[in-house]
Amino acid sequence: MQRITILGATGSIGVSTLDVVARHPDRYQVYALTAHSRVKELAEQCLRFHPEVAVVGSADAAQALSAILKEKGCKTEVAHGETALCDTASAAECDAVMAAIVGAAGLPPTLAAARAGKKILLANKEALVMSGQLFMDAVSASGAPLLPIDSEHNAIFQCLPHGYGRAPAHHGVSKVLLTASGGPFLKRELDTLHDVTPEEAVAHPNWVMGRKISVDSSTMMNKGLEVIEAHWLFGASAEQIEVVIHPQSVIHSMVSYVDGSVLAQLGNPDMRTPIAYGLAYPERIASGVGAVDLVKIAQLSFFQPDFQRFPCLRLAYDALLAGGTAPAILNAANEVAVQAFLDGRIGFRAIDQLIARVMDALPGTGIASLAELLDQDRLAREKALSFIQ
Ligand code: NAD
Ligand code: MG
Repeated sequence: MQRITILGATGSIGVSTLDVVARHPDRYQVYALTAHSRVKELAEQCLRFHPEVAVVGSADAAQALSAILKEKGCKTEVAHGETALCDTASAAECDAVMAAIVGAAGLPPTLAAARAGKKILLANKEALVMSGQLFMDAVSASGAPLLPIDSEHNAIFQCLPHGYGRAPAHHGVSKVLLTASGGPFLKRELDTLHDVTPEEAVAHPNWVMGRKISVDSSTMMNKGLEVIEAHWLFGASAEQIEVVIHPQSVIHSMVSYVDGSVLAQLGNPDMRTPIAYGLAYPERIASGVGAVDLVKIAQLSFFQPDFQRFPCLRLAYDALLAGGTAPAILNAANEVAVQAFLDGRIGFRAIDQLIARVMDALPGTGIASLAELLDQDRLAREKALSFIQ
């Protein structure tokens, strides 16, 4: 029996994870569930899955959750705040952690899980983008099994040989090919992009996801973050990571080998497939997702990304090449810009402009400690906010 902590249980990935877990009560037990502020949803999950611990963002939310659970006779212990999050991610009672908090807020508990040697199912790409070296060092030091849940990275993981070990040259890997749908604005007239509304930006053609990642997909910053994520997960250089637009989202990514072979993983666009793969690895279990119907899909197409349409993708490659804290600065500026866009405070095109300004303004440093990294993250957020006001 594997005991699981789900960080970000009320989100899109969290809910899909619970869906897979519920299909296999003989294999998985929920140890802890966490959410930021959606108390009602978290309470319903606690009543159904009976975790030992539930963590929320504030004392008020904790009080509200406790009241609901007490009334229903549920014995789940309620805690709040970052220390409690880190404790549930590293607790002795927990074997595996689904890291599905959105944004930089997910870094401390995910890092705590890595340091404690837990099996990590990594959905929270921002945590890895921010802390790259630090995070991978923690994983190597503790021997924590790290399983990518992001569909592209999960696909690449499936296409790499067993025991790959982040060394492309040793295994004849020439490139990893990250596929991208191109999002909702792939074909929209360039000079109308400034008019884009948040509702249009979050309406992804193939995937149903949280609002932040949906906006990231529309700017292709999501793919940019995934390029950096692939660098850390697979030891591939920026030149070895190629983005290919594939609007059908059937091929989730590919690995190209020196002998000319290209291996791909195909599937319906449903995150329960990579989640089930991560949960059961190296076994395979039912996820609730059916096989792709290739005849119905009929055609798969591919083309190169256009950096003029998607400047965020270029900015992410720049940050990867700059190294040090540049990816953390890129990520922080993007989080502030996306939130401002969703709140109606800036236009769509201002997202990439704001990130570029912050990156120009902050030189970045080499990465040393977590404290320094968080300091750079804070500085980038302050800078971005100062450019908005
Ligand atoms: P979401 O917005 O649906 O859910 C986010 C979860 O994080 C919620 O449970 C929320 O309560 C929690 N949360 C938010 N802010 C928090 C904070 N400050 N402190 C603690 N908890 C907080 O997001 P999502 O779409 O499920 O994405 C989660 C992560 O997975 C993101 O990093 C995203 O990039 C990654 N991811 C998502 C998908 C997808 O299909 N949704 C695919 C690949 C990767
Ligand atoms: Mg992805």
